Amino acid sequence: MRNHNLTIYNSLSREKETFTPLHADKVGMYVCGPTVYGDGHLGHARPAITFDIVYRYLTHLGYKVRYVRNITDVGHLEHDADEGEDKIAKKARLEQLEPMEVVQFYLNRYHHAMEALNVLPPSIEPHASGHIIEQIEYIKKILDSGYAYISEGSVYFDVPKFNAERGYGRLSGRNIDELLSTTRALDGQQEKRNPADFALWKKAAPEHIMHWPSPWSEGFPGWHLECSTMSEKYLGEQFDIHGGGMDLKFPHHECEIAQSVAHNGHDTVRYWMHNNMITINGKKMGKSLGNFITLDEFFTGSHELLAQHYSPMTIRFFILQAHYRGTVDFSNEALQGAEKALERMLDGYRRLQQLKASAESTVDVSKLEERCYDAMDDDFNTPVLIAELFEACRIINQVNDGAAKASQDDIDTLRRVMDTFLVEILGIKADTQGGGSDMKPFEDAVDLLLEIRSNAKKNKDWATSDQIRDRLKEIGFDVKDTKDGFEWKLL
Ligand code: ZN
Repeated sequence: MRNHNLTIYNSLSREKETFTPLHADKVGMYVCGPTVYGDGHLGHARPAITFDIVYRYLTHLGYKVRYVRNITDVGHLEHDADEGEDKIAKKARLEQLEPMEVVQFYLNRYHHAMEALNVLPPSIEPHASGHIIEQIEYIKKILDSGYAYISEGSVYFDVPKFNAERGYGRLSGRNIDELLSTTRALDGQQEKRNPADFALWKKAAPEHIMHWPSPWSEGFPGWHLECSTMSEKYLGEQFDIHGGGMDLKFPHHECEIAQSVAHNGHDTVRYWMHNNMITINGKKMGKSLGNFITLDEFFTGSHELLAQHYSPMTIRFFILQAHYRGTVDFSNEALQGAEKALERMLDGYRRLQQLKASAESTVDVSKLEERCYDAMDDDFNTPVLIAELFEACRIINQVNDGAAKASQDDIDTLRRVMDTFLVEILGIKADTQGGGSDMKPFEDAVDLLLEIRSNAKKNKDWATSDQIRDRLKEIGFDVKDTKDGFEWKLL
């Protein structure tokens, strides 16, 4: 275990706190994952990347991290028209497919996007629908504690009672009146004692296709319940980190806290962490605004707002250039800037592999590694870390140009820093843009094919020319004809 002094901003205390895990060498971390229709639009990239960094860094420090990220596949199904999809289209699809087919379809797309972004898979990815029995048992205990009541086959959490006795709204600093404004007519207002109460179990309407038997009715669990239940099942009554997007603070995480306190009599989470949101050209994302862009559309450039395609590593690097608690605004200009910055960084990384040591040294890299750790220890400050890595690149370039000299020790330090912080902790794939000295024969082979294609074109041998272009495209190359020849990239 590395000796370190990691501080984490705790959304509950609203302060940076020294990280002291519950167990010496183990960390439990729970992050709210996507809903079933969360098939990988841009909004999903940020929490996934934020907590990937937390996961990677804690693992690097020597902790054994159990990282649980749930899949919401029940309880939210009829609620997310405002999340983007047309309700009728969704229903039509649901009527023709087994619900789990729909879940799997979107989940596969989500996993595909996460893999492209080099987001490590969590240790456990539990589905809400796979934990109905546990959720029913959880509700029974809340009923026993007196903070819930049964009404017409549904079970509701008694928010005013909880608020009077234990306090509701500690995380968000918001109160019951605000909870009222977020509830919808759909939530069965007439069955509740108080409009602020939220459902733990809902009796299913006849047209509802996902339902399970319970002591109260044939129905389904409320959305907030799955996270309280599954985090406790896999991480225990108390665990270290609970994360998610800032939009989940209220009411979702606030309700989670209320449920857990009602269930266990105490708080379960040591550190609440929330990543800030993403905007596009200064605006919130939304279907109605026409700026709802999926990750696939970024990777292929197929959305009308995009001037070009952006590689998954460009998206990842761009997100990491901001601290997770700051906002990130996507625009073509900003992404093109990130693309160039990443290219500069990767150029430095590639040059480092071929750097020649001198007997003497005119550079000072002695504090570089420590400064990188300091950046990460300061609440995962990736923009400061990236600035330090650019400083490393500046030194690499000087040595490469002959303007400075580096000893073998200096070069070893630079390599250790880049491999640890750029590749292992920031998760940037260093060979993404077809670089790296061991990639040279491969690059030459692609160049050779494209030269053959150029010659074929000159000779008006369109069949050969098209065949090479089409096959390369199928394999995953982006080939562009330019004034002086061609350009290619591996997507
Ligand atoms: Zn959750």
